[in-house]
Amino acid sequence: MSYITLSNAMNIIKSSDLKNANIRKDVYEIPIYFFNRYEENALLSIKELLDSPENYFTEIYKPVKVKEKHNFVYVGSQPCYHTEYDCQRLNANYKNYEIPRDIREKGKNAVDAFRTWFNSVHYLLEIDPDVFVARLYARWGILTNVKAIEFKNSGATYFENESIGNLKFDITSLIKSAGRFYYASSKNKAILAAFSKLSFLGEKDEAIQNNKTGFSDEEVKSLLKYYHQTFKKPLKQKLIQYYRLDLNPEIEMSGNILNKLGFNPCNTCAN
Ligand SMILES: [Zn+2]
Repeated sequence: MSYITLSNAMNIIKSSDLKNANIRKDVYEIPIYFFNRYEENALLSIKELLDSPENYFTEIYKPVKVKEKHNFVYVGSQPCYHTEYDCQRLNANYKNYEIPRDIREKGKNAVDAFRTWFNSVHYLLEIDPDVFVARLYARWGILTNVKAIEFKNSGATYFENESIGNLKFDITSLIKSAGRFYYASSKNKAILAAFSKLSFLGEKDEAIQNNKTGFSDEEVKSLLKYYHQTFKKPLKQKLIQYYRLDLNPEIEMSGNILNKLGFNPCNTCAN
């Protein structure tokens, strides 16, 4: 048997046609009304991949061309799978950094230039983050703190010592808090009744189509952003941790499938 990291498992489901996936199961034992179809399909796909990889690959997985994203400084090399669950490389946490939005919007050349620059000052992140921030500002005119762009990739055994009981408690609490927030004011209710499933609009620059809430686009976006960050995003993360702990904590699947997907055997543990 072979093992992969959670982030590689997530990459597999993201390389499948999530919009048209047809999985008739429940995301959780309590109904959740604020996920859109794409979000629901992503959650159900990861659940199925963990529960029954064979079924996932025969029934659900439909590879689509994924547009290369320029979001991170380090671009993933060929993913690999491990045959030893305690392999150091499987369990290593590694850091990545988000490329600031201003740079990404300038296109591929700017992104490449940023990556080259980043590599040349990368050492500062460890020895003196303040100097790094100053250099970032001097070179690119961007003011941010390092924490804001840091992205920790979880290794295989990264559970924050969670138990299934705790996870279920947290999931239920988040669903209830989201419900209370919905009814907390007439403003929340008006905006969320129309847009809770479309909370990603909070991050978009364009005008909101069909905004009949009686509140300005700006007010709608700022509330949606808050709602997404406070309830939806943490809930998705908790659900995925719960599926994993409940169904397939080691993310174990057949090496054959992974070979076909273009994974390489790890050269530390899999000979
Ligand atoms: Zn390995």
